[in-house]
Parts: sequence; structure tokens; C-alpha cells
Amino acid sequence: MPEQLLIIGSGPASWTCAIYAARANLNPLVYEGAITHENQQRGTLPLGQLNLTTEVENFPGFPEGILGPELMIRSREQATRFGTRVVTDDIVSVNLKGRPFTAIDSTGNVIEAHAIVIATGASANYLGLDSEHQYKNFGVSACAVCDGALPRFRNQPLVVVGGGDSAAEEGSYLSKFASTIHLVHRREKLNRASPIMADRILGNPKVKPVWNSAVEEVLGETITNAATGERLPHMTGVRIRNLQTGDTHTLPAAGMFLAIGHTPNTKFLNGQLDVDDKGFVVLKDPFRTTTSVEGVFAAGDVADPTYKQAITAAGMGCKAALDAERWLAARGVH
Ligand code: NAP
Repeated sequence: MPEQLLIIGSGPASWTCAIYAARANLNPLVYEGAITHENQQRGTLPLGQLNLTTEVENFPGFPEGILGPELMIRSREQATRFGTRVVTDDIVSVNLKGRPFTAIDSTGNVIEAHAIVIATGASANYLGLDSEHQYKNFGVSACAVCDGALPRFRNQPLVVVGGGDSAAEEGSYLSKFASTIHLVHRREKLNRASPIMADRILGNPKVKPVWNSAVEEVLGETITNAATGERLPHMTGVRIRNLQTGDTHTLPAAGMFLAIGHTPNTKFLNGQLDVDDKGFVVLKDPFRTTTSVEGVFAAGDVADPTYKQAITAAGMGCKAALDAERWLAARGVH
């Protein structure tokens, strides 16, 4: 028997969708993603990007704030309490051409479903430098919460790249461990960050902004691990270019943390849903969660180039469940 509703993803959009769908007796199945280092580094699954953040201060109902992972674990529990079934694996491909739809997970299981909600969120971006790739996991990271407490970063100067809320949040978090945070941004103010977060990070005595600048190269050497004899990359700094003067200089740093935005996770859709030029799933009607394929709905950061907040993702997840329920009911599936 095909599933009534398959939900792919595991952030606030996915769990809110599951809570509503389970309570509407749709018996939803959630694929929450596999527990892999790659998924964690990308800031995606399981439990989505909030699982990699610290304090969430702007989710209503938590006046003292709540930790991102706790918010997600509790949302997941709320979904399972009403009967949501959860599989801890990735969906690697879908076929949206036939009916019912089919999806294949990483172990080759085929899931049939009458309706699907895509809530796969977005992955952290990198600058795309060869040297950045070389020192990834050896100093370069896109996840301060995953890696910031590592011994190699303790009392060391670190570089944070970006000018939005993520850069502000990651910089504040890393300042607990680092000696100095060089906040490198290509403009001369934190134009994308909310004022409260910009003021907080710029008021932090450990933070030194490096305005109008870009990281041109990650610098390092190869060292021998004393215990294993293994030769490993070791980051020592970055070369910075001032974008106004063209001057370059070297900043010594044990790590570089990227906070330069995210790319929606739509690759597994293999072009079967309309996406915009940045890869966000296009909603047919911006007030709904309908997509270019009837019976497939999208919610959260994967379909939101504008707001990208935990609360807006949760709201979209609720809408997706209601849209799916009505769509299934109209076809007599539910
Ligand atoms: P963002 O707002 O899109 O900001 C990305 C920043 O990275 C921008 O300053 C951008 O510079 C810079 N950037 C992009 N590509 C770059 C490149 N190739 N080289 C150098 N710099 C580059 O992304 P975000 O900070 O991840 O935030 C995403 C969303 O999540 C936002 O809606 C934000 O409010 C939300 N968020 C909220 C919280 C919170 O409330 N606690 C925390 C984190 C994130 P330009 O300005 O020049 O384009």
C-alpha cells in the first residue's frame, strides 16, 4: 500500500508538517536524513540547521530562549507522539512522473506515496577556493557549533567570513574559545544581520571586523601527527584582499568558519520540480505550498529565498500538511 504522505526533511517545517498530518490521520512517514558527517557538515539532516545552532531567542513561546537542538528534538517527539513514523536515512532520488510517486532511500528501499512534502532545507555554502577544500576539516569549517570547541581552535585567532545573522551568531559562539575573531566581510557593515545581533557581535571585545575584504587563499602546512606518524594538513592563516585598494595581507588563524549563506537541497529531485535560479523550489502560489507537480508540496528553507526563519519554516510546514490533506481528500485517498 502506498503511503498517504511522505515527508522528506527534519527541520521545523518537516516536524510541524508531521504533527499536523499525524493529527489529521494521514499516518505520515518522515525521512529525517542519515547520520553522516557529510550531512552534519552541510548543516542539513537529521534535525536540520537548528541542530547546529545554539540559543534560539526568537521562537515564540520560549521567553528565556531555547537551544536549537532541544527545539528540534522536542518537535520530533511531538510528531512521534501522534503516530508519525520516522526513518533515519536519506532519500536519494524520486520519481514524480508516475502515480503513486516513488522515492528511493540510500539502502535502495522504494517508498510509494500519494503525496510528498519536500522539507529538505538548505546546505552551507563555501567560497570555492582550492585551498579551502584542502584544509576542510583541518581548520576550515562551515559549522561553528560542530567544530568550534575542538582543541586546535582553543585560544587561537580564528576567521569568520560573512555579514549576516549566521556570521554574527557563529562569531559570538566562537569567541568563547578563540583568542580573537577576525570577522571578514566584503562590505563595510553587517548589512544582512539583524541590528541586535550585529550590535552584539561588534560590541564583543574579541571581535575585529575586516571590512571590504575577501579571503583569497587559505594558508597552511603539512605536519606529522606525533602519535600516528600520519602527515596531515594544518591551517595557519588566510590571505586577505582588500576589495577597494587591492592590497593583500596575511592574517594568522587556526581556523576559518564560513557563514556565507546556504543553497537549497534540491539535487535529489533531479529537475522534476520547478526551481528558481538559486535552486529554491518555486511555489505555484506564494500563499500555499503547492509546486509545479500536483500532489508535491514544499515547505521551509528549501522553498523560501526570503525569510528563512525557524518560525516561518514551521508555519510553512503546517500549511503543507493542510494543503496535502485537502489534496488527498479531494482525490478520495483520505
Ligand atoms: P545571509 O543573510 O544570506 O547572509 C550571507 C552573508 O554572506 C551576506 O553578508 C553575504 O554578503 C555573504 N556572502 C555570500 N556569499 C559570499 C561569498 N561568496 N563571499 C563572501 N561573502 C559572501 O545568510 P545567513 O547569515 O546564513 O542567514 C540566513 C537566514 O537565516 C537569514 O534570514 C537570517 O536571519 C537567518 N538566521 C537567523 C539567526 C537567528 O535569528 N538567530 C541566526 C542565523 C541565521 P552580501 O551581503 O555582500 O551579499
